[in-house]
Amino acid sequence: MRELAKKRVCVVGAGAAGLAAAWSLSRSGRFEVSVQEEAELVGGVASTVSIALPTAGITRMNDQVRCGAPTFRNTELLFEAFGSSFTSMPLRVSIGTGEARWNNTQATPFILRMRPEIRRFRRLLELIRRAPARLGVALPIESVLRVGRFSEDFRHRTLYPLMSLFFASGVDSMRVPATVVAALFLDEDSRLFDFDAGTLLPPFATVVVFPDLAEVYARVAAALGGCVHTGASVTSVARSARGVSVKRHGSAPEAFDAVIFACSAERALGALADPSPIERLVLGSVEYQEAVLVTHVDADYIRRHHGVAPDSDVQYYTRNDPSDPARIEVSMHLGRFQPWLRGEGPDVFQTIEPIGAISADKILLTRRARHPRNSTRHFLRMLPWLRFIQGRRRTCFAGGYTLMNTHEHAVVSGLAAAERLGAPYPFADDPAARAQFELYRRAVHG
Ligand SMILES: Cc1cc2nc3c(=O)[nH]c(=O)nc-3n(C[C@H](O)[C@H](O)[C@H](O)COP(=O)(O)OP(=O)(O)OC[C@H]3O[C@@H](n4cnc5c(N)ncnc54)[C@H](O)[C@@H]3O)c2cc1C
Repeated sequence: MRELAKKRVCVVGAGAAGLAAAWSLSRSGRFEVSVQEEAELVGGVASTVSIALPTAGITRMNDQVRCGAPTFRNTELLFEAFGSSFTSMPLRVSIGTGEARWNNTQATPFILRMRPEIRRFRRLLELIRRAPARLGVALPIESVLRVGRFSEDFRHRTLYPLMSLFFASGVDSMRVPATVVAALFLDEDSRLFDFDAGTLLPPFATVVVFPDLAEVYARVAAALGGCVHTGASVTSVARSARGVSVKRHGSAPEAFDAVIFACSAERALGALADPSPIERLVLGSVEYQEAVLVTHVDADYIRRHHGVAPDSDVQYYTRNDPSDPARIEVSMHLGRFQPWLRGEGPDVFQTIEPIGAISADKILLTRRARHPRNSTRHFLRMLPWLRFIQGRRRTCFAGGYTLMNTHEHAVVSGLAAAERLGAPYPFADDPAARAQFELYRRAVHG
């Protein structure tokens, strides 16, 4: 009898958000869950690839999502529940080139010159935090900094390159709402690192490095039993007072009581048979952009363009396009935060949106990644209205895009969607995790 009383929930997408939602629903014992994932593997952009390294054989590496901040407590607890853990390490960056080079461990001449503006920036962030939230959301940081007469060197060669480490796109950093920038630097619960009045990014900043993500998410999927279907693309979701009808490519429609869309907003909107005007507005307001990610072993490229020897302890390198300072290239030394990549083989790098030519014979993998923009439009036209489509018409929306597109937000979004349908939040006993969850729930579910 109890089995019959279980609510049937379809989760569309088996990335971090979808798997967190499905795990939370199924552990509550009150739901019968079915996860539909169109790819052959679970994890979504939290992917791990096997790559043949010259002289070192096959190596596995997280080639998209790879690290986070110490505030990612829900992610940490989810990983621990499946026998994995973070590795915490000091964050080392090398920003800019030539005379505009700076890092977070030394007082370079450039950063010494930027110090008065760094201090002024801190005061500005405090002001932004006190301003009405809507104003701070409506104004991109670039407009605020221009009005405040911050120099091009501060904007394009100091602040935006640092932000681009987290948003993985240089051009986009300048469009991030001022309020969001203030939160990233100053908010107790969501800041990525402490504010340093000397070097902006403190010398003791830490980054948490994720374990083999394919392994973790395969374990989550295995724990869910046979309810995770890969190679299953959802093409249409029709909702009525009686229930939800989910159609997969090549299969007959299946009936459910509720659906959680844990795929991108554009895919959710595309699959909805009858989106309401507000669903169209909210989901249609998420802007996506593409970035090219090149994984390579071209150490000369890094040396040539950054003047930093790859054997230093730097993990991140950025540089501005000489002809357009707004365009920022980000490179990562993958071995620096994937300890298992260190060893016999060559140094492995990933360059996002390369400005120069990486030697073709040193390229291991090229990917185009599509990700949501953290623009003012996103925060003005999507976020304030998102709560009005959550839990309505038997539907919830989860995914990193629902807040700031971090792995933590993806995991929390899944747990919040599951809670919205009646599954208890699993990490209620952990104050730090709970704080992240409540912050998200207030912003996204109202
Ligand atoms: C290149 C890249 C690097 C990133 N790096 C980091 C990082 O280092 N740290 C960090 O915190 N965040 C990072 N992020 C942010 C990232 O988006 C989140 O970390 C998080 O993993 C996203 O999870 P998700 O479940 O919301 O979405 P996804 O991982 O995109 O999962 C959505 C899933 O839905 C599936 N799907 C889509 N449509 C359908 C359909 N119609 N039917 C069935 N299945 C469907 C997709 O195949 C996919 O598996 C990165 C993002 C990108 C793009």
